[in-house]
Amino acid sequence: MRLSRFHLATVKEVPADAEIASHRLMLRTGMIRKLAAGIYTWSPLGLRVLSKVANVVREEMNRAGALELLMPSIQPRELWEETGRWQKFGGQLLKIRDRKDADYCYAPTHEEVITDYARNELRSYKQLPINFYQIQTKFRDEIRPRFGVMRAREFLMKDAYSFHLTAESLADEYRNMVDTYGRIFTRLGLKFRAVQADTGAIGGNASHEFQVLADSGEDAIAYSTGSDYAANVELASALAPTQQRATPTQSLERVATPTQKTIEEVTGFLGVSPSQCVKTLMVRGNDGLVALCVRGDHEVNEVKAAKFAELPGEVLLADEAEIIRLTGTKPGFIGPAGLPATIPVIVDRDAALLADFICGGNVDGTHYRGANWERDARVTRVADLRKVVQGDASPDGRGSLEIARGIEVGHVFQLGDKYASALGATVLDDAGKAQAMQMGCYGIGVSRIVAAAIEQNHDEAGILWPEPMAPWHVAICPINAAQNAAVREAADALYAQLTERGIDVLLDDRGLRPGPMFADMELIGIPHRVVISERGLAAETFEYRRRGESENQALNHADLLRRIGIGSP
Ligand code: ATP
Ligand code: MG
Repeated sequence: MRLSRFHLATVKEVPADAEIASHRLMLRTGMIRKLAAGIYTWSPLGLRVLSKVANVVREEMNRAGALELLMPSIQPRELWEETGRWQKFGGQLLKIRDRKDADYCYAPTHEEVITDYARNELRSYKQLPINFYQIQTKFRDEIRPRFGVMRAREFLMKDAYSFHLTAESLADEYRNMVDTYGRIFTRLGLKFRAVQADTGAIGGNASHEFQVLADSGEDAIAYSTGSDYAANVELASALAPTQQRATPTQSLERVATPTQKTIEEVTGFLGVSPSQCVKTLMVRGNDGLVALCVRGDHEVNEVKAAKFAELPGEVLLADEAEIIRLTGTKPGFIGPAGLPATIPVIVDRDAALLADFICGGNVDGTHYRGANWERDARVTRVADLRKVVQGDASPDGRGSLEIARGIEVGHVFQLGDKYASALGATVLDDAGKAQAMQMGCYGIGVSRIVAAAIEQNHDEAGILWPEPMAPWHVAICPINAAQNAAVREAADALYAQLTERGIDVLLDDRGLRPGPMFADMELIGIPHRVVISERGLAAETFEYRRRGESENQALNHADLLRRIGIGSP
């Protein structure tokens, strides 16, 4: 590409709401432009990168035996009613109506449509196993779209769906997809981990996420120092404590804590450690309120809690008025001791081990000291309720847990027959009997990968693309070409030669001074830069620099080709 014929629109200033590096850099390079909240145009520059990611994904999916198809993004309500997800999907589902007043949605995912396709197309077990995939635009009306294309409303996903007669066949394909994802993210040059994950709204049993490691990641992942255990913190189970609860030694005493509501304030004031306190979260139950109790130094894991039978499938904080109405106390002073008997008290296993603890006094401006379970505080049941923390024992008993941040770029599920049963997608087995098919689904956030790669690979000057994603492999930067025909000719010759060899090469023929020209090439992250100058021509060398390195190298032609990675002609 000759840059004079391209639309490169780098900018210096970006809006203040661009909080993370990838969002800022995608705007500064002009890769994306915002149309509305969470909705972006991919510029020619951005699309070059996005397409490279999509192609790696496509090549590896094809190699793994999956078949590409393309499904519609506008889908009829009736089909979504069949799985119950027209309601259950919640606010993320964008609903639209046509001129005949028929309801449709813009697909956030494609389980319904692919299962409908499968129930019509697949008749016999002999057609199985089969894996269909597409690379297609999704829309999810995210509550908080942010970080540019990282959490967008409209985004590009690769989604694959496999169909099987047996659970064993599904497990085989699941392994095939886990291996394929490993190859995709390795080829793209990303540092990632596959972690055990929650199955969320999609449903099913086994599930893994692929997380690109980056400090700005929204997900916390726990991994063991002593084994290959790795899980999303949402899912990671805390190992059941083995100690016994100590016997009470103190009597229950109400202490005045007039303005101290948070754990930090209360423990600071009373001179105790947070691990000697019980923190109580009041949430909506199926019927009234439920109290969730964890130790003061732990946090409630909402994904675990949402699965409790006492809760409506999600964790909804009780509002202050409701808490006051049912307990007579403001939220900061609630504790398990002396709560009305109508409120179930679910206690985390570690909190349940405490004796002589501090907790809210259920009277405004007070806490209890010397509280003890059973004697003073009712326990409806004990459960694994907390988030794991750094240093916890690994749930497999080997090593301890470290916590790292990650960006979820892929997610694979074994769905079992959930969708096939709901939609009546059956095949005949070898005895001629109709069986609901077993299904797997496998997603990759193609557009999110672009942002995740930048999070992992940038410096003050801009992006450092892993080579397989770079918009161009090589930038040729001629100095003073307008005044110097020899420079112009040498640049053109190298450009022609590299293009001929199938290399993506960008010739910066805009006639800029070296400073601004180099700044742009560094900003957009081209891995190899070749400067052609009068001085270099005189010495029969090219001035070469690898993006991310601080030194130039004077290379002859053969060495230059080797450094670019194509060997001598
Ligand atoms: P998240 O937990 O980040 O909301 P999810 O679990 O809802 O993601 P899946 O349904 O598993 O996502 O979708 C498959 C992949 O699509 C995800 O792994 C992620 O990479 C990508 N993805 C999901 N939501 C978004 C979004 N709002 N913007 C960009 N990519 C997304
Ligand atoms: Mg997910």
